[in-house]
Amino acid sequence: MKGILRLALNGFEYLRKRRKLKSPPMQLSIEPTNICNFRCSFCPQSDPGHRSSRSGKMSPESCRSILERAARDFYPDPVHRKVSFTHDGEPLVNGRFREFLEAASDLEYIIKFASNGYLVKREFVDSLVSSRIKFNICVDFTSDRMIFEKFRGFAGSYQVVFQNLRYLMEKAGETGLIFVDVCDISPYYIREPGRVEARFAEMQELFGGLGSPGVRFHRRIFHSMAGTVELPGRDRLDRSKYRLCPYPWFNLNVTWNGDVVPCCRDLTPKTLLGNVLEVDSLWEIWNSAEYVSLREALAEGEPQRIDACRECELPYESSRWTFRYLLKTVRSRLLRSGRK
Ligand code: SF4
Repeated sequence: MKGILRLALNGFEYLRKRRKLKSPPMQLSIEPTNICNFRCSFCPQSDPGHRSSRSGKMSPESCRSILERAARDFYPDPVHRKVSFTHDGEPLVNGRFREFLEAASDLEYIIKFASNGYLVKREFVDSLVSSRIKFNICVDFTSDRMIFEKFRGFAGSYQVVFQNLRYLMEKAGETGLIFVDVCDISPYYIREPGRVEARFAEMQELFGGLGSPGVRFHRRIFHSMAGTVELPGRDRLDRSKYRLCPYPWFNLNVTWNGDVVPCCRDLTPKTLLGNVLEVDSLWEIWNSAEYVSLREALAEGEPQRIDACRECELPYESSRWTFRYLLKTVRSRLLRSGRK
């Protein structure tokens, strides 16, 4: 009930196109590192120029401090605490990622993160289970080994990720502490809907014997990461119908060095909105002049005024603005809590 109320308040401010907000972000995202061990074709990490940009790892101490301040400033009631450890890099490349999860769990956050799955070894999973740390992990996969290793991983990586996913699913069923989302990447290289469906069914079949209430399968919808990545074979977008992007009203995204960016698509990053490690209250960032300018530009239908948003297709992507898709997003925000 409290979650619905919070969503309604954020939604009200979004629909009113408020520039300064009274409601805190519904979700906090923190990037443990912007370094990745994969070079997926559909990710900016595949661009050598992207890899030469500044990179690093957040310390668990900084992470704990951000989580504590977010709890104090935004979420005094633990029921509203949600953190996603997902942005540009692979979180497990930060060798101290377990301490991030520990801090979030201590502070009663609902935890989720995306991972390529390669480093999610048994020992890592077992140590989280033995500490009773509850989390939701999202991993991209496909039934086709060659395709996976061509567009996503490297030679031998398919089998490793497959085994790691099987173990995660097994533990999800046994413990109720783990929630696994597996996203099929077939839509990246297959266009015909019938073949996409067949691949999706094949992928689920691979894990058929391990189905549990904690496991879900999805098809990945690809985008260009705010104009950073070329999506081969995609038609040009119809830019005649503009819709207001919700991210600056709902999410706060923090990169590995504490910088805040508009959303999960700005991976370069192109637009900075402040640094959470340099302010006393996180409200100073959430209602900063930079955030207000971002909301203003988007509310006035002028994303071109913001570097990150200039090339972004989200306001024009009709598949993301259907009633069905929006309902699914709201449901996943409210129901996939990982909290009993
Ligand atoms: S318009 Fe695109 S780049 Fe800008 S905040 Fe929204 S999703 Fe991010």
